[in-house]
Amino acid sequence: MRIPFNRPLLAPREREYLTLAAESGQTSGDGPYTRRATELLRELTGARSVLLTTSCTHALELTALLLDLRPGDEVIMPSFTFVSTANAFVLRGAVPVFVDCRPDTLNLDERAVEAAVTTRTKAIVVVHYGGVACEMDAITKVAERHGLAVVEDNAHGLGASYHGRPLGSFGALATQSFHATKNVSCGEGGALLINDERLVERAEILREKGTDRSRFYRGQVDKYRWMDVGSSYLPSDVLAAGLAAQLEVFDEIQRRRHRVWDAYDAAFAGWGMAVPPGREHPAHLYYLLMPDLGRRQGLLSHLAELGVQATFHYQPLHSAPAGQRFGRVAPGGCAVTSDVADRLVRLPLYARLSEAETAEVIAAVRSFVDAAD
Ligand SMILES: *Cc1c(COP(=O)(O)O)cnc(C)c1O
Repeated sequence: MRIPFNRPLLAPREREYLTLAAESGQTSGDGPYTRRATELLRELTGARSVLLTTSCTHALELTALLLDLRPGDEVIMPSFTFVSTANAFVLRGAVPVFVDCRPDTLNLDERAVEAAVTTRTKAIVVVHYGGVACEMDAITKVAERHGLAVVEDNAHGLGASYHGRPLGSFGALATQSFHATKNVSCGEGGALLINDERLVERAEILREKGTDRSRFYRGQVDKYRWMDVGSSYLPSDVLAAGLAAQLEVFDEIQRRRHRVWDAYDAAFAGWGMAVPPGREHPAHLYYLLMPDLGRRQGLLSHLAELGVQATFHYQPLHSAPAGQRFGRVAPGGCAVTSDVADRLVRLPLYARLSEAETAEVIAAVRSFVDAAD
């Protein structure tokens, strides 16, 4: 494809940092680049505590462990999300309860959340689709009323906000992704943001194979021991070096992504993506909703013929084989999710997409619409 769906970025100092980290002799986790990336993430998100992880998937697994979820516990979440949002909880035997999405933002429909609560519900997981914030006021109220934890799968929302407050700072726990397709990336990586002070110490232990090695390295204990369950969730400092190099130029990455997003928005306002008031979005993705599946497939092939790689997105979890086996659908069903999943097209959007290429994508979409008229 002449214009691929994604082109990973190499930040100005990324090559240098990667080399320095590889040559330093400190290639395991929690070295100097991990500290640097962690500090930059804390500044960006305002989170109380940040732990780098090997992926957003693993950060989500940590949230399920930290909330002590047991077989039969229920977790309310959207059906319109990535599989990891559900898998992390299914691994603990918990049951995902799938709620439909809003037709405007494709976010968890807050109006359907309370009807999904039962005596077994333990948490609500929100996904800020495209980094456009969920209705956090309403969702937080339901959670407080029923004593439920809120987890934000903030894979899309680094740098975004809801009424001025950064995404990732609303839940007791939140997760970030630094996968190659995200705004900031180290190939494969993630982070756990901890806003509930009571979970900080245990999170550190679970991430380090269930040991208090982090405290040992800080000189707080004279040996480290097996303290709890856990696994190995910390990334190599070499990966953290690449991440730090990208986070250092976060504003510039965002400026370039917004330039593309704004051009798409100007061209497609009305049938493209919607951002309700009170939200700053991070230009993570741009989508169009076609009238039906036929025309969605038609547009994808038309763009491919012109050398532009566009793509669909999440296939509903509630109707997927594993979703039916492990989860259940909340009262009200997931009709909007099934509908939009068939009609959605994501356009190329990344910092390295030039103005000329952006214009070419816009012209390619227009030529499909014109041909159909
Ligand atoms: C990308 C993504 C993930 C998974 O991220 P990894 O870092 O690849 O594990 C989880 N949830 C959402 C909403 C995502 O977009």
